[in-house]
Amino acid sequence: MTTKALTKQIQSSSTEALTCRSFGHAWNIDGIEVVNQNGKKAYIESVSCVRCATRRRDTVLTSGVVSYRNYMYPDGYRLSGVRPLGASYVKRNVRIFLIRRVMEGAR
Ligand SMILES: [Zn+2]
Repeated sequence: MTTKALTKQIQSSSTEALTCRSFGHAWNIDGIEVVNQNGKKAYIESVSCVRCATRRRDTVLTSGVVSYRNYMYPDGYRLSGVRPLGASYVKRNVRIFLIRRVMEGAR
């Protein structure tokens, strides 16, 4: 993975996806169900991002501890092979690209 390959993936990402990568998702609760987990009551909380449509399911114990979390990303959200570059490097590149894209759009 090179910076050039990263830039190419960022360029093809939606503005919504880049906004969530920069600022975090905007979660909305879709539903909560009560489940029995190993004889104990727990909740499965389903949330989705109102901006990029990423979905997340958390299993929450009655103590409030999240015992399991699973993400489902929309097509085109994920950047592949970027891990060796480091999360903060990727985030900085996303951030500055998003600023440039928004400014160009504002002209
Ligand atoms: Zn999002």
